[in-house]
Amino acid sequence: MRRETYNEFRHLCRAHNLAVTHQRQRIFEAVASRPGHYSPEEIYEQVKQDLPSISLATVYKNLKTFIEAGMLREVSLHHGAWRIDANLHPHHHLVCTRCRSILDLDQDLLAPVKLRGKLPSGFKLEKFSIEIQGVCKACVASESRTHN
Ligand SMILES: [Zn+2]
Ligand SMILES: [Zn+2]
Repeated sequence: MRRETYNEFRHLCRAHNLAVTHQRQRIFEAVASRPGHYSPEEIYEQVKQDLPSISLATVYKNLKTFIEAGMLREVSLHHGAWRIDANLHPHHHLVCTRCRSILDLDQDLLAPVKLRGKLPSGFKLEKFSIEIQGVCKACVASESRTHN
């Protein structure tokens, strides 16, 4: 584990009252050390290289714990797959409708979103999370290749 990631992990655990275990450290590292939006299965495959005896259920359980503590975030669930996001900075998502890849979009790239009226059913707003759907660069390239 990189020194900064390790220090950040210890610091976050202390702040959220979580025991610092070797398993948790490995799971957190698998997400935080590479930018991206990973499925629990992908994280499990990564962690298993160091901890061959770890189970997928343990990975799920710890990811849930991290998310509840606010140490990681989840990407919206409506594409049917759970994805974990290590980027805690406020941001939106660009979602490719072909390959389902997800890219971060800094929130400064959008004008601030505002409500025109009250939300229905007494819903209390916490934050806006915008999902922009389109076609990623790789898919655009492969589609123009097949058309030529
Ligand atoms: Zn794509
Ligand atoms: Zn993200």
